[in-house]
Amino acid sequence: MAIAGLNIIDYVLIAIGAFLFVLFVYAAIISLFEKEKKASSNFFITGLLLPTPFLIVAVTDFGFSKVISIVLLTIVIITILIFIIPVRLRTKYMNSIPEARIDERDTMFSRNELKNNEKRAKEYYTNNPDKKPVDEKIMENPGLMSIKSSNYDPVLFSSAHASFFTIASLKSKVDGHQNSEKKEFDPEQITQYIKKWTKKLGALSVGVTELHDYHCYTYRGRGDYYNDKIEAKHKYAVAFTVEMNYDMVKSGPMGQIVMESAQQYLSSGVVAVQLAEFIRQLGYPARAHIDGNYEVVCPLVAKDAGLGEIGRMGLLMTPEYGPRVRIAVVTTDLPLIPDKPAFDPSVIEFCTFCKKCAVNCPSQSISYNDQEQTGGVARWQIDQESCFDFWTKCGTDCGRCMSVCPYSHPNNFLHNVVRSGIRNSSIFSRLALLLDDVIYGKKPKVAKPAGWMNLTEKKSS
Ligand code: SF4
Ligand code: SF4
Repeated sequence: MAIAGLNIIDYVLIAIGAFLFVLFVYAAIISLFEKEKKASSNFFITGLLLPTPFLIVAVTDFGFSKVISIVLLTIVIITILIFIIPVRLRTKYMNSIPEARIDERDTMFSRNELKNNEKRAKEYYTNNPDKKPVDEKIMENPGLMSIKSSNYDPVLFSSAHASFFTIASLKSKVDGHQNSEKKEFDPEQITQYIKKWTKKLGALSVGVTELHDYHCYTYRGRGDYYNDKIEAKHKYAVAFTVEMNYDMVKSGPMGQIVMESAQQYLSSGVVAVQLAEFIRQLGYPARAHIDGNYEVVCPLVAKDAGLGEIGRMGLLMTPEYGPRVRIAVVTTDLPLIPDKPAFDPSVIEFCTFCKKCAVNCPSQSISYNDQEQTGGVARWQIDQESCFDFWTKCGTDCGRCMSVCPYSHPNNFLHNVVRSGIRNSSIFSRLALLLDDVIYGKKPKVAKPAGWMNLTEKKSS
């Protein structure tokens, strides 16, 4: 074996090897910043190993080195083609409009509140006797943020409580009187103003849709307005998302997840209340829909406003952060220009074969099957009873599904390149999932809390 004089193919191989080295070391460094130690070492090792055959074949000359050069170049060309050529293996996804509306009284948050109201419980279980046994079993659990729950943490649960306490003070401010003097605007201009200002206030993405009946619950299921019938009383809806912190979400189902959920319910609630009040100041009715005080089903509104698709875990999957968001909505009659979202089949297709949330769900509440026809629309539906049963045992809102989802990775160059490949090609999507499993693990570890959250409680003497 001898060092050969380099030709053009050798230089191309060296360039590819150097590119792969830089790419994977860059990914390793980014992963370190993301506190993904396992991913970082996997990227680093790959960055050392992957370029090696390219360099060896380029700088040495042995019997069949030319054949290996051609094989390596062919693999590289095929990989590039897989990334850039748009291929959609399955195109027939139903994107139909829901026929049936959801009754908020059937949601687990609403049913959970029945334990504090004998009269409502009696009425509800008379009409829904099938739900009584499962609810009674769940009500025996310690409960959300309970001192007796398995993941109880006095500091983190108190932090979450403080956010929920603050949200409660916003509930009476979701609606109000509008200014008697109506200001007129060009709908395009005011729509752009609302989108930009909402982002400035902290939103990640903002969209507008016409409000439809199927966006609204049929009946209120919580608080003072229990049993109130809901009609779509406004013409438009502004939906927006706020990001949930990556590190906090990765800790699900430990205490940080409920702390983060509460924080982002509050952040989105503040922005929604501000936005609704702003619109009323302009002389138009507007109502904010925030945690514990909804008349609309936020993911359905957000989907029609172009903010994402509904994935396997039943949550909105945004292009930027996947399901790692909270949503709030403002409905209004202020004339706005609705968005015209194009259906993105790549998300639904990815969910069809991914199933990482289902595999990692501690209560096995997420379906492994294909989408099913429910309420006139093809969708996945989680088992809300078994999911809530788990929540009320561990004391948090879990979020394990959200934390392991490949779409939840941070919004940076590395992950955005992968996201654009997934959008473009079904074949690349499968490679991306394989890579995600190898680099981050099929069952990623639950992240430990940051040092500043580890407080030791002093026992009083
Ligand atoms: S984990 Fe996979 S299957 Fe589940 S929502 Fe995310 S992409 Fe879809
Ligand atoms: S929140 Fe937890 S229990 Fe509920 S579906 Fe997601 S992973 Fe399963």
